[in-house]
Amino acid sequence: MGLVVQKYGGSSVADAEGIKRVAKRIVEAKKNGNQVVAVVSAMGDTTDELIDLAEQVSPIPAGRELDMLLTAGERISMALLAMAIKNLGHEAQSFTGSQAGVITDSVHNKARIIDVTPGRIRTSVDKGNIAIVAGFQGVSQDTKDITTLGRGGSDTTAVALAAALDADVCEIYTDVDGVFTADPRVVKKARKIDWISFEDMLELASSGSKVLLHRCVEYARRYNIPIHVRSSFSGLQGTWVSSEPIEQGDKQVEQAIISGVAHDTSEAKITVVGVPDKPGEAASIFRTIADAEINIDMVVQNVSAASTGLTDISFTLPKAEGRKAIDALEKNKPGIGFDSLRYDDQIGKISLVGAGMKTNPGVTADFFTALSDAGVNIELISTSEIRISVVTRKDDVPEAVRAVHTAFGLDSDSDEAVVYGGTGR
Ligand code: ASP
Ligand code: MG
Repeated sequence: MGLVVQKYGGSSVADAEGIKRVAKRIVEAKKNGNQVVAVVSAMGDTTDELIDLAEQVSPIPAGRELDMLLTAGERISMALLAMAIKNLGHEAQSFTGSQAGVITDSVHNKARIIDVTPGRIRTSVDKGNIAIVAGFQGVSQDTKDITTLGRGGSDTTAVALAAALDADVCEIYTDVDGVFTADPRVVKKARKIDWISFEDMLELASSGSKVLLHRCVEYARRYNIPIHVRSSFSGLQGTWVSSEPIEQGDKQVEQAIISGVAHDTSEAKITVVGVPDKPGEAASIFRTIADAEINIDMVVQNVSAASTGLTDISFTLPKAEGRKAIDALEKNKPGIGFDSLRYDDQIGKISLVGAGMKTNPGVTADFFTALSDAGVNIELISTSEIRISVVTRKDDVPEAVRAVHTAFGLDSDSDEAVVYGGTGR
């Protein structure tokens, strides 16, 4: 007998019908002889709606109270799911994050899990119950206050519980059939990936792929927990994310040269214009940004015009941090010394990811050729061993993603990418 941790996202439990469908799936897994722990997200867009509500009563809601409010979303779905399972004649018990032993630091709205002590969950499943756990929440070790793990955090709850319970697999149920070679909402011919390594998945996640969060994959890699991403709407095999390929019947699963194309339109670009070309300038710019606790992504410095001895430095960062970065730089303008700042939030990033590019010459050339054939202008470039990223105009992103996808032979013959639910909100 094995132990499976399953996670169901908000679009899978969006309404009573969805909850009943998920209850049936969970009972199936139990009937197949497994102990089952199911982690759930809040129903549909509940979390967004609660945030909207909070902002109506206070423009910047207090972190502690916002966490208290948001965790109510997952409480609703966990209790309903347990009821639906009982209605099918099986025993189920729901647990909040705190009851499940998810212990975090005390950073409200983006807490990190520091320990999981799943004693109550273990006892419950050993007694033959199905345990339902509220995702995305925990309790602070120091303050004992309720915390949340940041948007999309239920996946991390599932992986962390799977690690603590030494589960055989962590199944993440979502509204698509798995991880695709590009966002199926943008590329109709995106293909489902059978297996992908933790490394490639981490790069895709940090390049804008939303199917799994970076933190969740990082956790899975650290504890070597295989993740199976699949749809709760279809019975299809999904995508395995693990360190080594998983045997799938007689199908040979191998490392692809290119795993996929990711895109991200959540970033903005700041250009610091007229920076003196001398040592220490970049250091003081990025020290200012770091002191404001802002994470940057790409950086590029232009060659200085010999006549002026001045240069421009551009970098990208999450749009949400744009205001803060500009304010911090303006405040330190006398110390840093520059002419002006330019802010551009009409950019997009396209990334090609695959471990095979390490050993296959010409990938970069083919990537740039595909973009130029599509008439897309490149503004910034950055690379890692297994990724090439470019910044373009935001409006060019969908076209560019499709062009690159086709150029690397990733298009499927049929339109296999089905989006079953979710508003993508
Ligand atoms: N309900 C939370 C959110 O919408 C957590 C999750 O869905 O994983 O971000
Ligand atoms: Mg959600």
